[in-house]
Amino acid sequence: MIHEVQHYIMCKSNQYSPKWINEGISEVFETGYMRGKYLYSEKQSDKEQLLKSILKRQKVFQLKKFLSESNDEWKKHDTTYSYTMSWGIVYFFI
Ligand SMILES: [Zn+2]
Repeated sequence: MIHEVQHYIMCKSNQYSPKWINEGISEVFETGYMRGKYLYSEKQSDKEQLLKSILKRQKVFQLKKFLSESNDEWKKHDTTYSYTMSWGIVYFFI
């Protein structure tokens, strides 16, 4: 549910965001919870393991290419791959 609320908030901001940011943020905070006025996110070990598995199988990850893909290009990836990579990138930055 929080995943979809995040999409709604980003949509209402009227700011374009690439699919990897939009889905990455939603994935990170889908386990979110409020404590006081702050939003926290649970550690997502399942996603971390999946990311490690993908990176182990994939000899080269072209970060620059992934980040510059159009939304249509992003959607052409395997769903697990695109969501997990997006989650990993956003998780790294926050
Ligand atoms: Zn989503």
